Amino acid sequence: MEEKMKVVSFTSLPVWQQKLIFDADEARRHSSSPYSKFKVGAAIQCSQPNTDPVVVYLGCNVENAMYVVTHAEQAAINEACLNEPEKPYIIAIAVVLPAETIDQHALPCGYCRQWIREFGSDDTLVLGAKLNSAGDIWQVEVVTLEELLPFSFGPNNLGK
Ligand SMILES: [Zn+2]
Repeated sequence: MEEKMKVVSFTSLPVWQQKLIFDADEARRHSSSPYSKFKVGAAIQCSQPNTDPVVVYLGCNVENAMYVVTHAEQAAINEACLNEPEKPYIIAIAVVLPAETIDQHALPCGYCRQWIREFGSDDTLVLGAKLNSAGDIWQVEVVTLEELLPFSFGPNNLGK
């Protein structure tokens, strides 16, 4: 493991990463979260940066009255599986959620980290965009999946 998490401003990111975060923020607007009122959006990029066409899949969190929740990241992965001809590979994933302080992270939960692992690798880039109360992205955490899920168990453990 070489890199450490970077905490940066939105505008310092490469344009393709800014676009992926914008996509995740757009997906977030569709969140159906009447119980938690915690809206999350995710966008998965399955094409290499700066290639044409850019292939992105979106997801938002969805809740029901049993308090069962589909997380945004998992929803985006489902969308990728529906639309990709073969098993999708996640180059990068952006997540956008409310996080107003330095010590609140905007990174996927443990459950979603394992889902990303299934369709990504140690090198998969994870962008966690923090929203303030005005709905503005004030900070972005940039990590690799390896940093989020070190020594992971994945498809390769089962010969896949
Ligand atoms: Zn999650």
